[in-house]
Amino acid sequence: MHPRDLSDHVAYQAGRGIEEVARELGRDPAEFVKLASNENALGPSPAAVEAIEAAAHGVSSYPKAAHADLTGAIADRWDVTASQVWLANGGDGVIDYLSRAMLEPGDTILVPSPGFAYYGMSARFHHGDVAEYPLEREADFAQDAETVLEAYDGERMIYLTSPHNPSGSTISLEAVEQIASKTADDTLVVVDEAYGEFAEIDSALTLIEGRAGFEARDDVAVLRTFSKAYGLAGLRLGYGLVPEEWADAYARVNTPFAASELACRAGLAALEDETHVERTVETVEAARETMTEAIDAHVWPSAGNFVLVDVGEATPVAEAMQEAGVIVRDCTSFGLPGCIRITCGTATETQRAVETLNEILEARSEVGTS
Ligand SMILES: *Cc1c(COP(=O)(O)O)cnc(C)c1O
Repeated sequence: MHPRDLSDHVAYQAGRGIEEVARELGRDPAEFVKLASNENALGPSPAAVEAIEAAAHGVSSYPKAAHADLTGAIADRWDVTASQVWLANGGDGVIDYLSRAMLEPGDTILVPSPGFAYYGMSARFHHGDVAEYPLEREADFAQDAETVLEAYDGERMIYLTSPHNPSGSTISLEAVEQIASKTADDTLVVVDEAYGEFAEIDSALTLIEGRAGFEARDDVAVLRTFSKAYGLAGLRLGYGLVPEEWADAYARVNTPFAASELACRAGLAALEDETHVERTVETVEAARETMTEAIDAHVWPSAGNFVLVDVGEATPVAEAMQEAGVIVRDCTSFGLPGCIRITCGTATETQRAVETLNEILEARSEVGTS
């Protein structure tokens, strides 16, 4: 007995956790800060925590009403119909539902390189293949229609990440429209807006709905998540926003009860707690500014809750930072062996990350030049 041929498949490499690192180094977890997984430095909304506690006694029931309530609230928030909201187990769950709805065996998707690993993983789970378009480091990971269209070869789905992980770059709605217009009618352009709340650009929902002077279209979908700005990464809650034309496919591809009772109730509370999201965005903006100004290395401009830093050699620098108690993301697995990604922390955490990194860079340059 064997699983099917999984030799093309790779395991997802998540950012490292405090418990894991502390245990490995035989240290007290309290000595560490984790700035490796783009989580919310302020934690979840207190209203969401209360909602989880209040909902705890109801978890013996299936989350039918909660699911409908949250779907309705999200539909209101974006002014779309409830059917256009595809609730899922995290943004990753949205990617799976889109794969299920779109891909026939052997279909190919087009993804950015460097980029988010789960796009390709999900396509392969659904018996699809993966092609890549390059985002060039020399061009500061600029995203434009030409780059994507040059690589396009009739793929069934194209993933755009805006803001992009790990670089923080964005793509304009005009460019998304151009890509959608110049590709086949049955090529779906998925705009992953996992970090959308941190960016000053409009959601690509504008294109789907034909708002702000754009013509409405049925070949764009948007991904959103509660993991980042809403601070609910541990609950696994995300959603897709899709065109009304094929929104009913959800009923045929979704897992019965795509999101849990606790996730739905917390999501509802978090959605209403606008103050928490505003404070989160302010914290992120301050941290981005601090890191950009104070780090003694090139920091790419970022519209996300993280920055990408050119440190020369990522692995030894990330290891030294970890040793000093600051866990960051070594971007070697993204194909960027010279870069680390640092999540925006609280003011104190961010300051510590900057000082730690600068000390390490200085020590390395002294060794290197002596
Ligand atoms: C974090 C992230 C997601 C979604 O994560 P979930 O926790 O599954 O919601 C999607 N895309 C990108 C690029 C991300 O960084």
